[in-house]
Amino acid sequence: MTTKSKPAKKKAAKKAAPKPSAPKALKAPKEVSISKRDLDAIRKKLSEQRSDVLEAMRRNRAPEVTSDTGDEADQAQAAMDRDLQFELSDTERNTLDQIEGAIRKIDKGTYGACEQCRQPIETLRIRALPFARYCIRCQSGSERAVTATQA
Ligand SMILES: [Zn+2]
Repeated sequence: MTTKSKPAKKKAAKKAAPKPSAPKALKAPKEVSISKRDLDAIRKKLSEQRSDVLEAMRRNRAPEVTSDTGDEADQAQAAMDRDLQFELSDTERNTLDQIEGAIRKIDKGTYGACEQCRQPIETLRIRALPFARYCIRCQSGSERAVTATQA
């Protein structure tokens, strides 16, 4: 009777390399909690809004002098008319600026932060007003100041 006792295979001791315990971020950086997916959606929405505004501006513009006149004076006049039209649509221009500013910020990765206090703008606010530049507190800062003096 031969009982060959198999020596238990020596387990390759898995040496768990002690991972340098990453310091727990106690102070979570005030980061904007907008996911990339949300950002993409917002960016798309902003682009669409921009096109809408541009389209509206174009429609509001007086019909342009066709370029086949070839007359320099006419072209200058047309350019002036165009400038005038642009001036007239101040609100649209403003909106356009805000939209483009927001798109730029998305590209720069600073989107969602209040331009004044650098705190993240409330998600609900972002949803309602994708090109908001300030958080609610800063936006209503003047109102608060008024109430503060009253108190
Ligand atoms: Zn703010």
